[in-house]
Amino acid sequence: MKVIAMPVGELAANCYIVYCENTRKAAVIDPGADGQRILNRIQYEGLNVEHILLTHGHFDHIGAVKFLKEQLGAAVAIHSGDAQALTDASRNLSALMGGHLVQVPPDVLLEEGDIIAVGDVRMEVLHTPGHSEGSACFVVNSPVKAVFTGDTLFQGAIGRSDFPGGSYGQLISSIRDKLLVLDDDYTIYPGHGLKSTIGTERTANPFIRYYVK
Ligand SMILES: [Zn+2]
Ligand SMILES: [Zn+2]
Repeated sequence: MKVIAMPVGELAANCYIVYCENTRKAAVIDPGADGQRILNRIQYEGLNVEHILLTHGHFDHIGAVKFLKEQLGAAVAIHSGDAQALTDASRNLSALMGGHLVQVPPDVLLEEGDIIAVGDVRMEVLHTPGHSEGSACFVVNSPVKAVFTGDTLFQGAIGRSDFPGGSYGQLISSIRDKLLVLDDDYTIYPGHGLKSTIGTERTANPFIRYYVK
């Protein structure tokens, strides 16, 4: 499995292009903006994108979904709890920012435990509510250990829980019960900022040290 990280848009949300080196099959996680730039990279790498996976439905993570679905023919997948955000500017918070961003309805509704195949790579869906109702993380157990955490867990911080649909208690539970149960050597690919590992965040993330008990 290879991961290409592309910060996109004004809030520098991390779009990840994840692919299987054996088959060149790929998934795009959180194409928040800059669709043409993402598409150029996909074409440069010669990838066959089958999935557009969304960690949640906030505007900074979904802004290029419609463009990339039209260009690639890939299926758009999001947890059922955030599905309406794709077509509702209030739910995706763009209305809060004075905009009106709508995309396309999802093709696939994700639930806890679903497995997504990207060539030889298997990704498991974790439902991790708290930042939003339908926030999800995607875990890869082999051939590498990795977890795409969206806006649930960052290097040195945790996600906000003060937006509509957010819950501080759920956020803490999601991090404790779904993410911190992973081994220390899992690489974290967050929705903003730099990558990290579960072990580093377990020991050095101040929110986890003081609030996730
Ligand atoms: Zn968000
Ligand atoms: Zn975000």
